[in-house]
Amino acid sequence: MEKLVYSFNEATKEILGELGPRGRNLVKMLELGIPVPFGFTILPEAAENITDEVREAIHNKISELEEVAGKGFGNESSPLLVSVRSGKGISMPGTLEGILNVGLSDEEAKQFPKLKSVLADEFSLEPYEQLEAAIKRVYSSWEKPEAFFRNMKTDAGDNSIIVQQMVYGDKDDNSFSAIVSTRNLETGENAITCEYKVNASFEDLLKSKENLGFADLEKQFPYEAAKIVKICRILEDSYKNVQTIFIVCESGRLYVLKSDIAGMSPEAKARAAREMVSEGLIGKKDAVMRIEPGEIELGEIEPGEIEGLTTEDARAILSWADEFKSLKVRANVDNAEDAELALTLGAQGIGLVRTEHMFDTEQKLTAIRKMILSETDEKRSEALAEILNFHKKDIKKIFEVMEDRPVTIRLLDMPFAYFFPTDDEEIKQLAAQVHIAYDKLGAIIDRLKEENPMLGTRGARLNIIYPEVARMQAEAIARAAIEVKKEKGVDVSPEILVPMIATEEEFFFVADVVKQALDETLAAAASEAAQQPFGKAFDTAAAAEALDIKFLIGSMIEIPRAAIVADKLAERAMSFSIGTNDLTQMVYGISRVDTDQIIKEYEKKGIFKENPFKTLDLEGVAPLIESAIKKGRKVKENIRTGVCGEHASDPKSIEFFQEINLGYISCSPKDVPKARLAAAQAAISQREKQ
Ligand code: PEP
Ligand code: MG
Repeated sequence: MEKLVYSFNEATKEILGELGPRGRNLVKMLELGIPVPFGFTILPEAAENITDEVREAIHNKISELEEVAGKGFGNESSPLLVSVRSGKGISMPGTLEGILNVGLSDEEAKQFPKLKSVLADEFSLEPYEQLEAAIKRVYSSWEKPEAFFRNMKTDAGDNSIIVQQMVYGDKDDNSFSAIVSTRNLETGENAITCEYKVNASFEDLLKSKENLGFADLEKQFPYEAAKIVKICRILEDSYKNVQTIFIVCESGRLYVLKSDIAGMSPEAKARAAREMVSEGLIGKKDAVMRIEPGEIELGEIEPGEIEGLTTEDARAILSWADEFKSLKVRANVDNAEDAELALTLGAQGIGLVRTEHMFDTEQKLTAIRKMILSETDEKRSEALAEILNFHKKDIKKIFEVMEDRPVTIRLLDMPFAYFFPTDDEEIKQLAAQVHIAYDKLGAIIDRLKEENPMLGTRGARLNIIYPEVARMQAEAIARAAIEVKKEKGVDVSPEILVPMIATEEEFFFVADVVKQALDETLAAAASEAAQQPFGKAFDTAAAAEALDIKFLIGSMIEIPRAAIVADKLAERAMSFSIGTNDLTQMVYGISRVDTDQIIKEYEKKGIFKENPFKTLDLEGVAPLIESAIKKGRKVKENIRTGVCGEHASDPKSIEFFQEINLGYISCSPKDVPKARLAAAQAAISQREKQ
């Protein structure tokens, strides 16, 4: 017959997997020479169906235990009492983590008033019946549907049953219960911390507010404290992680009940991981894998001041992360201050400047409004020149911060209505300011309004209807680049992105406009440079240098059709930037701006397992991206590829971007550290899978 019940010292490699985390922990501790109360494990299938054979095996194991303990199961004067626990080693609402003092009869309960047994009343003098009932209860509490489903999510392992000799921290004044951590859980410092209480059970310890610490233990129980130090070292060396250990000292004899990975604050986790690397206990890779990307998330960032996980330890771990990652991490910014922050947080470039966000002062806003409202070409040119000036200055500042790192600037991607007020009072004020009658201005704004502004005159469409806007933006970018190159001698690396592309004709049209503006601006700069230094002689070298700036013109892939015709786009596009926000919106046909309510309802009803605007939909959206990238690379092997939607800082989405070997991910500056860590973890996992 197949063996279904194993003493802790009998577990073979083959059955370790079935013992559950707690069962494995006990076997391992015993192997390491750590004193654990002796016992045995009943495999899940035997616990589920207690046959006569199983019953016999349990009897035999109890006899073994009686011998080890020198006590008798059901013996009135010296009873062997056991605990019955699930091998899962976790607790969950609605489940029985364990039943204590099994084997205690009514009579004995009277003799040992401190001992409580939930089973004594029901099974007064029949300890084996108690034991069987306890096994059934603990096992089935984990098989209840709610527990079963929650448990599937936590992947807590097998539902084996562990029967173990009871030991008591509340036996006398030479007894205590202690919860010991191998390092300080608040700070991560390599110093043992503990809470203990003399003559107390764990229940007493957890309730009490007057527990003592490790320094007290060293004074009060120096011999046990020294043993605990050894146990801590052995367990840390073996598990290579900070451990929280449950210890009972019964009349001077020390027992370890269990040892788990300690729960720590992110700061403490980072410090412990970093120090374990210096101690040679773990490698850098383990340290990088150990911190959750979410734990490195930064809070709100006050100017200059960065809250959250920015300790030296976190920085060290992030710098190791950079050694493992292959995806470049860039940031989406609207101005030079954001760019500076992004750089401080480790961004390797700017993946997206949304130029519609650059109208951040009254003056700039007035200029674009004037441009939109201009009735003559002359007035429009005047307004465009004014915007060009603002644009050039703002873009130049970003180039100055980023130096030779790549900076991707996207052409205007918002309907013109976005630049106007919606409030009547404000429209009145604006009418007076721009000298247009209120009624007339109201009518113009109404005309610009769109039922669903998220899919209207945006991106390429806007730039095709008003090519002068694209031309102006390209010129501003070129001039900013030329000036930074001239003044700082820096080789700037600009990229101009055309948003909302559906067809190759759209892209070619806008790319032509942009290219022409770039060429003309560069030619003008070259001829200007050629006149220098005295305004006369033609300086060929200066002209060549002024022209030697490589501008990439790229296409956003954010409309499903663009993903499908990516090969055609790649004939001219030098880069692809995947806009996962719009792509998700259009694949789902759900607006990304005003549908929070639908998404919440869908999540509640289980229709969406995850919000597809946060975590990339691997089934419905990711394949489009994968095929677009493949098609693009077929036509242009080294086409630059990146992603700039919200998904760029989501760890699960990053795993996918790693799988398709994307060039970069670009997220908001404050998410850069999180993205760096997630990118490193994705690269490590990918390598380990191969
Ligand atoms: C996107 O669509 O994913 C994107 C980055 O652009 P925006 O959010 O500005 O539309
Ligand atoms: Mg978009």
